[in-house]
Amino acid sequence: MKKIKRQTKIIATIGPATESEQMLEKLISAGVDICRLNMAHADHDWIRSITERIRKVGERLKHEPAIMMDVKGPEIRTGYLHHEVNLKQDDLLDLIFEAQPNPPTSGGIWKIEVNYDKLPEHIKSGDTILLDNGLIPLSVLESSTDRIRCRVQQDATLKSRRHVNLPGIETGLPSLTEKDRRDSMVGIECFHDYFALSFTRDADSIDLFRSFLRKNGSDAQIIAKIEDHKGVQNIEEIIKASDALMVARGDLGIECAFEDLPIIQRKAVGSCLAGGKPIIVATHMLESMIESPVPTRAEISDVANAVNEGADCIMLSGETTTGKYPIECVQMLNRIASRMEDEIQPGLTEELKLFRPKAKMLRSAAMLAMRIENSAVLVFTRSGDLAAKLGALRPNGAPLFAFTDVRGLHRRLRLIWGIEPFLMDFSDDPEITIQNAINRLREEEWIHDGDQLVTVTNVFAHDKVVESIQLREVEPL
Ligand code: PEP
Repeated sequence: MKKIKRQTKIIATIGPATESEQMLEKLISAGVDICRLNMAHADHDWIRSITERIRKVGERLKHEPAIMMDVKGPEIRTGYLHHEVNLKQDDLLDLIFEAQPNPPTSGGIWKIEVNYDKLPEHIKSGDTILLDNGLIPLSVLESSTDRIRCRVQQDATLKSRRHVNLPGIETGLPSLTEKDRRDSMVGIECFHDYFALSFTRDADSIDLFRSFLRKNGSDAQIIAKIEDHKGVQNIEEIIKASDALMVARGDLGIECAFEDLPIIQRKAVGSCLAGGKPIIVATHMLESMIESPVPTRAEISDVANAVNEGADCIMLSGETTTGKYPIECVQMLNRIASRMEDEIQPGLTEELKLFRPKAKMLRSAAMLAMRIENSAVLVFTRSGDLAAKLGALRPNGAPLFAFTDVRGLHRRLRLIWGIEPFLMDFSDDPEITIQNAINRLREEEWIHDGDQLVTVTNVFAHDKVVESIQLREVEPL
């Protein structure tokens, strides 16, 4: 049995540092499972061309990554600037609602655009507004219909299109904006596999987004991004309504108290494992590697901790969009994750509730595969559910092969912990399907003569179809 390199999956955000065909090839060869496209910075033509390029490279390498479009939801940002702005403590700054790419450079009052013109309705004197992930705190002096006048609280440099956070303030923004709808239509046209919804606050926003996708002909799955108090408060209903969850630590660390962040992360991972939903830990995992070829020791521990807690995926953002060492970052995640996985004692998630009889059989199959040397689990799935539940059991150390005949699902399954997906036609005869799967695994050198495969599949018992767990030894051809 080929030794599996890593069971925790890697998401890389694609940007200027990684958009070329050559860099995509290196990223995917280094093991990237999902490519994320961040709609905060992407235009529609770029989305179309990068999607085509990722798909082309993936097919060539026979390792097709899933594509995730990250739509921005009720996110507020500053506008485009021709050049950086050096703010000084006590400067006056007006947040305005029309483009101002050249704010005054000396004296006067800075005029900085934000993309939400109803903001003054929700802001009052004495509030705090944070720009650029909390690096630039502003105290509000007064708020009127056409501007919010603030005082800058410390020296800082403002760049283009920075995040605006309003800790504890409800903005009244719709969960799915007009821009999200326009962006998603392009994602639908490009058959993106996942849509991540920023600032998910409740289950209703997921339901709304799902009906939008279905109405427009997409069966893509939805990842809820937890980024603020409301999301944390409603996390259980959000997990139930969505297909996966992302702990978006960048915004979460601003909207909530810093010290709460590890606790929110641990609880989110635990709830997702119990519900059988994939969970992504995101942001600042190797932040220092944007500039440096080696991570900080604290970053190494942070990545290892996410793996140890049981995250399905760990995610890179700036590290792979504009960083100087994108490939090294992926290699670093490989090293840290696989080393940590070696240390995790084999064991199955006890909290995971399995309802369907076939899903319940998975627990026994996974247990068998963990107990037998040189063995793996082999499942066949059309909805993806069986593979999702198998991964959620976390049978550490046992390869998990999932075959599907549904195009697209083979990419989507890459998000799930431990699952190695394959696209293959199924025969009406389950035995032929199993043999074809074994042949494919052998051809691609995943398995060798004498290995054992624990299969969960249908078999014919005379004229009846019954569910079964079987142990198959790979026989010499
Ligand atoms: C985050 O805030 O951690 C995050 C992933 O969201 P984004 O980068 O899209 O703002």
